[in-house]
Amino acid sequence: MYAVFAVSPFITIFALYFESDGCLALLCLKNIFMDYQEVINRIYSDFQSKRGEGKVADYIPALAETDPMRYGISISSLDGDTFAVGDADVNFSIQSISKVFTFAMVLRLIGDKIWEAVGREPSGNPFNSLIQLEYEHGIPRNPFINAGALVMTDRLISLYDRPKEALLDFIRSVSGNDDIYFDQHVARSEREHADRNMALAHFMKSFGNINNDIDTLIDVYCCQCAISMNCNDLARAFLFLANHGVNPLDGERILSVSQAKRLGAVMLTCGLYDESGDFAFRAGLPGKSGVGGGIVAYIPGNLSIAVWSPGLNPHGNSELGVETLERFTTDIGNSIF
Ligand code: GLN
Repeated sequence: MYAVFAVSPFITIFALYFESDGCLALLCLKNIFMDYQEVINRIYSDFQSKRGEGKVADYIPALAETDPMRYGISISSLDGDTFAVGDADVNFSIQSISKVFTFAMVLRLIGDKIWEAVGREPSGNPFNSLIQLEYEHGIPRNPFINAGALVMTDRLISLYDRPKEALLDFIRSVSGNDDIYFDQHVARSEREHADRNMALAHFMKSFGNINNDIDTLIDVYCCQCAISMNCNDLARAFLFLANHGVNPLDGERILSVSQAKRLGAVMLTCGLYDESGDFAFRAGLPGKSGVGGGIVAYIPGNLSIAVWSPGLNPHGNSELGVETLERFTTDIGNSIF
């Protein structure tokens, strides 16, 4: 049964319908009167003088080889359109953006038991901090800081015989790109400089919150961070979240509506580490960043947007990426608020 109606006039038409399991779902039919290509072209042109802002991550030496002048934006909408500008088709290291994929895969399989292993509060600390783990007994604050992501990768290893292949399969299916791969040069470089992540993993193992061999864990984690994708891939890959848990490319339900809501809430509150509050304030969207300089964000029921600019601010988030997303929601007059 369908009911078609318009919300936020002049922007989006939605259809309300019942799925086979009786769930009420909302589908974005068409973004009308909003020329997203024109919007991102204008932002891209206005921000040319800001290219190269921030500092490219160098604590993983392979990342320091990235050209700081890169800048790309891509939007994928639920009605099947793509809008792109700049270096939107140039691959880069997704780094912590991968934490959304591993979290979704584990949440899908173990459901609410996930909250025994990881919390859902912002940490207020840098992404690779060890401080809270001691007094919070090895339970990381959330799945998007390194400690929490290591726990999720540990669970992935327990759940799958071939966790790396399972992860690639998942990302290929949500992005619609079968060529997505681990950049072995970046993975090796991170493995050689993984002392802090090793420390986090050993520490959590002492509390019983890591079940697998630490070397195996660090290897899988470094590979997941070294996944090579571009803005077009990433914008498409987050559409299943914008679509309340259903992959619009093949209609497969990946997460329940409730799980998709929860994942989005954790992205909003924790996706940009100790800058998450400021990002929510400025962009008003659930988002996830990585030290490769990418940020992906989405408007539920509508679209997903990926930005890449490698220069980072002191929080480890893309300086121009944050500015771009703030400007985007300001220009279109739409966010989750
Ligand atoms: N691979 C990086 C690390 O573990 C990911 C960090 C990030 O993108 N914020 O340090």
